[in-house]
Amino acid sequence: MQLLKDRILAEGRALNSEVLKVDMFLNQQLDTALIWEIGTEFARLFKHSAITRVVTIEASGIAPAYAAAVQMRLPLVILKKAVSIAMDSSLIQTEVFSFTKQKSYMLTLQKEYIRPGDNVLIIDDFLAMGEAAFGAISLVEKCGASVGGIGAVICKSHQPGLKKLKDAGYDVQALAKIAEMDKGYIRFEED
Ligand code: 5GP
Repeated sequence: MQLLKDRILAEGRALNSEVLKVDMFLNQQLDTALIWEIGTEFARLFKHSAITRVVTIEASGIAPAYAAAVQMRLPLVILKKAVSIAMDSSLIQTEVFSFTKQKSYMLTLQKEYIRPGDNVLIIDDFLAMGEAAFGAISLVEKCGASVGGIGAVICKSHQPGLKKLKDAGYDVQALAKIAEMDKGYIRFEED
């Protein structure tokens, strides 16, 4: 997605070869017009995948997943990183190691929000090691639903997540694929 790649080149900052900072349009301040276009692109890419529900991980996945879900006219389910006292007994959880925070958390879902037979599109802001995506997949499959697609706004394809998900047979679509980066430069994969 050229609009997104141009924005990453203009405003993204590679902190090192592994971490990209995009706080100014995706992670802290949101460029709502760009995020709407991101949603449009996901809706187009998964138009023929018979998706019944969009699922994301709080917090930075919510905006692009919401933009996609609205345009696909589907409900959006948010997987939580912490349990709240307002959650009831039907919780299912899986442990995920966060590459950026360098610690594990329990990804949590109230089971009734994903139904057996659902065909789910998982959307997140970044795909790096694939930990978050595999955690989400595990919760979706524990509900008796299938994963019809995985959408990443930005994928760092020099990290192993993309290959692992593809090798496992999932349909993964990334809107900007970074082949390599380091302080001062970012190189995208050719489309
Ligand atoms: P993974 O589980 O694939 O290693 O990483 C995905 C999660 O880590 C995403 O939900 C995202 O929030 C975070 N993440 C991974 N890499 C980056 C990065 O380079 N920059 C930012 N801002 N977040 C990242």
